[in-house]
Amino acid sequence: MPIYKNYIGGKWVNSKTGKTFPSINPANEKVIGRFQLSDSRDVDAAVRAAEKAFKQWSETPPPARGKILLNIANILRKEKQRLGKLVTTEMGKVLKEGLGDAQEAIDIFEYMAGEGRRLFGRTTTSELKNKSCFSIRIPVGIVGVITPWNFPIAIPAWKMSAALITGNTIVSKPSSDTPLCAVELVKIMEEAGVPKGVVNLVTGSADNVGTPIVKHRKIDCISFTGSRSTGEFIAKEAGLKKVGLELGGKNAIIVMDDADIDLAVEGILWGAFGTTGQRCTACSRVIVHRKIKKVLERKLLSRVRKLRLGDGLSKKTDVGPLINKAALEKSRKYAALGKREGKLLCGGSAVPGKGFFFQPTIFTNVKPRSKIAQEEIFGPILSITPVKNFDEAIKVANSVEYGLSSSIYTNNIANAFKAMQKIEAGITYINSSTIGAEAHLPFGGVKGSGHTREAGWTGIEEFSHEKVIYVDYSGKLQKAQGID
Ligand code: NAP
Repeated sequence: MPIYKNYIGGKWVNSKTGKTFPSINPANEKVIGRFQLSDSRDVDAAVRAAEKAFKQWSETPPPARGKILLNIANILRKEKQRLGKLVTTEMGKVLKEGLGDAQEAIDIFEYMAGEGRRLFGRTTTSELKNKSCFSIRIPVGIVGVITPWNFPIAIPAWKMSAALITGNTIVSKPSSDTPLCAVELVKIMEEAGVPKGVVNLVTGSADNVGTPIVKHRKIDCISFTGSRSTGEFIAKEAGLKKVGLELGGKNAIIVMDDADIDLAVEGILWGAFGTTGQRCTACSRVIVHRKIKKVLERKLLSRVRKLRLGDGLSKKTDVGPLINKAALEKSRKYAALGKREGKLLCGGSAVPGKGFFFQPTIFTNVKPRSKIAQEEIFGPILSITPVKNFDEAIKVANSVEYGLSSSIYTNNIANAFKAMQKIEAGITYINSSTIGAEAHLPFGGVKGSGHTREAGWTGIEEFSHEKVIYVDYSGKLQKAQGID
C-alpha cells in the first residue's frame, strides 16, 4: 500500500505524529493509499517554510511567475488522462467528469499565467498640482488553502493559481476524502519549477490541520471552499485574516410554461444527477409552471429511469457513487424525510453491496418551506415544486438561505431578463442548467453561499491587496482637503 507524504519546504516528509490515514475508492471501498495524519506541528513547519520562501517569490516579476504557471498547465495537459482517472478513482465522479476536473485546472492555470502580464492597478487624478495617484497589486502573504473533495483537482487549482500569480506562498490542506489528487497536483507544481517552500501541502483532519491553519497567527489569508457550517466557523475563528468563503447551494431550475421542455429535461438531468448531485451548483429544486408539470415529470422520469449507476471508470456508468458512508446516510435520511414531505416519483433508496451508491431520486409536490426544499442534501435527490406564474416562481426560488447558482427555462425574453435581475444568486443561467462555470469568469454566491468571487478577473482580488501610491513632484509640502 503506497504511503504518501506531506510536502514542506520542497521536501516530501512524514508527519511528526508518525500516523497515517487511508483514502478510499467510493465505488468499491478499497483503500487506494495512506496519507500523513498530521497535526499543528506539521502546520507550523509548513508556515515556516512558506514564510522563508515569501521574499523571493513575492519579488519574482509576475510574468516570470506566469511562466511557471504555464508550465503547470502544460504538464497538467500532458497528464490529463491519468489525472481524470485518478479523480474518478478517488472521488467517484464518472470519467468524463473526472477529465473535466483536470481540464478546469488546465484552464485556470493558463488563465492565471496570463494575469502575470496584467495584474492591473488604476491611475487617477489628484486634487493637487504636480501629484500623481495610482494603485498596484501586492500579495497578501501566506495563504491557507482549505478545499473540499468534490472537485479535488480543480478547486485547489483555482485557489493556488490565483494565490501564486499574485505572489503569495501557500499552506494547503486538502479534503481527507481526496488527498491523493492534491498530492499529484503538488507533484506537478514541483516538476513545473515552483520554488521550494512556495507551495506546502499538509494532509490530515479538520481539527488537527484545518483549525490550526485557520487560527495560525502567521497566516494572512484563508481561502476556503466547503460547507456553510465550516464557513461560519472560519468566519468566526480567522480573526483579522483576509477570508474567502465559497459555500453550499440549494440551486433551482425554473421551468416556465413557454419553455422548450425537452431542453429543460436535459438541463435538469445534468444539474441534478451529474456528479451524483455533489456539486455546489447542483440543481436540487425544480420550480415548474403547473400547466406543464405533468408532461415535464413524465419526460424526466423516462430519462431518469434509464440512468445506470456504477463505477465511474466504466463507460456504461451515468451516475457514480457518493463520496462516503456519511454522505450515503445523509441521502438516506433526506429520502425518508422526502417521503413525508412530498410524493416519491422514483428512487429513494441506497443500493445494497459495496460502494456508496444511492438511486437518483425525485419527489414532487414539495412545499417550498419543507426541509428537502430548503437544506443542502449534496446527493442525487431532486424536489419538484409547482407554481402558478412567473412571480411565484421567483419567490420560491429566492425562499432559501443559499444563493449560488440558478437557472430559468423560458422563451419569454422579458421574463428571462427579469429573472437575471430578480433571482438572488451569484450565477443565473438562461435556458441552460445550473452547472457549467468557466474559468475566466468570476464564480461565487450571495446570502448563505458566501460572497467570494474566485476565478476570472476577480480571482486575483481574493489573493492580493490593492495598494495606493501618491507621488508628489511639486517640491513642497502640499496638503489635501484644501488645508493651507
Ligand atoms: P466541509 O466538511 O466543510 O470540508 C471542506 C474542507 O474543510 C475539508 O478539507 C475539511 O477537512 C475542512 N474542514 C472541515 N471543518 C473544518 C474546520 N473546523 N476548520 C478547518 N477546516 C475544516 O465540506 P465538504 O463536505 O468537504 O464539501 C462539501 C461542501 O462544499 C458542500 O456544502 C458544497 O456545496 C461546498 N462546495 C462549495 C463550492 C463553491 O465554490 N461554492 C464548491 C464545491 C463545494 P476534512 O476533509 O479533513 O474534514
